[in-house]
Amino acid sequence: MADQAKTDAGTDATRTRACGRECEPEQARESAGARSQVSVPEGGREGAQEPAPGQAEGERERVRERAGQAEQEIFVTVSDALEYLFCPRFIFFERCLMIPEHQEKRYKVLKGRELHEVREKVNRDYVRKRLNCVRKEIAVYLTSRKYHFKGEVDEVLFLEDGTAAPLDYKFAEFKNTIYRTHKYQAALYGLLIMEHFGVEVKKGFVCYTRSNNQVVEIDFREKDYEKARQIVREILEIIQRGYYPEGTKQKARCVDCTYRNICIRN
Ligand code: SF4
Repeated sequence: MADQAKTDAGTDATRTRACGRECEPEQARESAGARSQVSVPEGGREGAQEPAPGQAEGERERVRERAGQAEQEIFVTVSDALEYLFCPRFIFFERCLMIPEHQEKRYKVLKGRELHEVREKVNRDYVRKRLNCVRKEIAVYLTSRKYHFKGEVDEVLFLEDGTAAPLDYKFAEFKNTIYRTHKYQAALYGLLIMEHFGVEVKKGFVCYTRSNNQVVEIDFREKDYEKARQIVREILEIIQRGYYPEGTKQKARCVDCTYRNICIRN
């Protein structure tokens, strides 16, 4: 999906251009292609040259060092954050026990529909003009080594007042409420944009394509960013420590949950 990646010299953030992605309220998922990855150090290659005597220990030391770094290179994705918000145990089952949720296909179909919808029906220029956007970047994949988080922003809008804002397209209706999944997804994008572009992000936008492209503005407060960072920290803790978190308090979600047969509910 990504076709370009570069390291930002001034920050730890990296970005890759990629195609857009989407998700439904409260059941939002990303495509499997955007899942977290753990970097693995290069192993020995067949036919690789034996190190000279005296270099062997140094080489082993470097390999150990790279392995240590790779162990820490765990990244939380937007998909993880959305699943965590649905039920924290999803992270344990998927990332610790490696049991897939088997819903990727459904979400891929949904995502495909969303992309089609956005490309065919949404006049993106019109949407941007209404938002006082002076410049934009489309489908930007950003990685934060600071927060161990990565995600793909549909659009990064640079606004007249010198700030920036994420714009996310949803193949969904706006039901007069901003779901917390949408809110924290936008806040996470805001963190990535601030780190990468070094500009302030005071708000985010969500365009609901099934409500006549209604654009909803979300104002970010510091507590929203703190909550977003906390979500990432908690997910990392589940993955790194392998602890079994509390399940969702909304028991209705358990009814058709993939993990209901193995989940110990309390
Ligand atoms: S059964 Fe309920 S508590 Fe368990 S993982 Fe599924 S949604 Fe979460």
